[in-house]
Amino acid sequence: MQRRKLGNTGIEVTELCFGVLPMGPNQRGLSPEEGGRLIRKAIERGVNFLDTAQSYRTYPHIRAALDSLPDKGRDVVISTKSAAKTYEEMAAAVDEARQALGRDVIDIFLLHAARVDASVFDERKGAYECLLDRKSMGVIRAVGISTHSVEVVRKAAEVDGIDIVFPIINVQGMGILHGTRDDMVQAIKAAAGAGKGLFAMKALAGGNLLSDIEGAFAYVRAIEGISAVAVGMVKEEELDINLAIFNDEPVPQALKTRVVNTKKLIIQAFCIGCGRCVETCPNMAMEVVDGKARNDKSRCILCGYCAPVCPQFAIRLV
Ligand code: SF4
Ligand code: SF4
Repeated sequence: MQRRKLGNTGIEVTELCFGVLPMGPNQRGLSPEEGGRLIRKAIERGVNFLDTAQSYRTYPHIRAALDSLPDKGRDVVISTKSAAKTYEEMAAAVDEARQALGRDVIDIFLLHAARVDASVFDERKGAYECLLDRKSMGVIRAVGISTHSVEVVRKAAEVDGIDIVFPIINVQGMGILHGTRDDMVQAIKAAAGAGKGLFAMKALAGGNLLSDIEGAFAYVRAIEGISAVAVGMVKEEELDINLAIFNDEPVPQALKTRVVNTKKLIIQAFCIGCGRCVETCPNMAMEVVDGKARNDKSRCILCGYCAPVCPQFAIRLV
């Protein structure tokens, strides 16, 4: 599989990045051993790039994969992120990642900033400064931000310390905040022109675009400035199909048919209408009507961020 440079960082990654979110306890709930086996298979078949986050609780899954490899996955590039707001919280998040992943140096550490606007750089100044300090101490190789916002991508292009930008982009423009799909494409191009390394999230809009998986990936892969695409995987069939696409090989129809059984979000009857999911959703895809949460499928990108905040465990992605 092709490897691409991430901006000016000197880090080279495969175009397919393994998104580790869906296998974790927020979504499918694979054990670290089960998830680790799938990650290991991906690495053995050429993938060298993993995307995770403090909040995904999937460090044990990655650790299980790395520990099972003869070279402990030395060549594997790990990108993680934290929603920490202060310097101290971010320092703890970096330490947690180093310890849990068994690595002295984290390749890429991002501000996890899905739904905020460009004020994030002021509001989370302490957390950002901590990342810069940890980079200068040599425990992080590259610093960046993950975002659903066009404004944030534009701003990040101007911020010297930002090495990496991880934006949402997909052919339908689902989940993009503060602008249109085409605005985001332009912002990505500008950020790449400023020397930032970019990889894309939600190319399949959380599974909503699985019915034309090849078209959805082709759209994002063709965007100028995108070096890699993070794709969540929980099954070997998904790995097979994604490897075929990113290796530019034909995808057997039987495999497509097996994989295209789209993910769903279910709200169970014992929802108490507290509204925590409404506050958390980055895409305004939840509302409380008559005392119960209701999901707007036209806005929902099946990111799963609402599930862990529900005090009743009433939200499930299946
Ligand atoms: S967070 Fe859970 S209980 Fe609260 S409204 Fe949402 S689904 Fe219902
Ligand atoms: S409703 Fe939940 S899964 Fe859907 S976009 Fe909002 S946070 Fe993500």
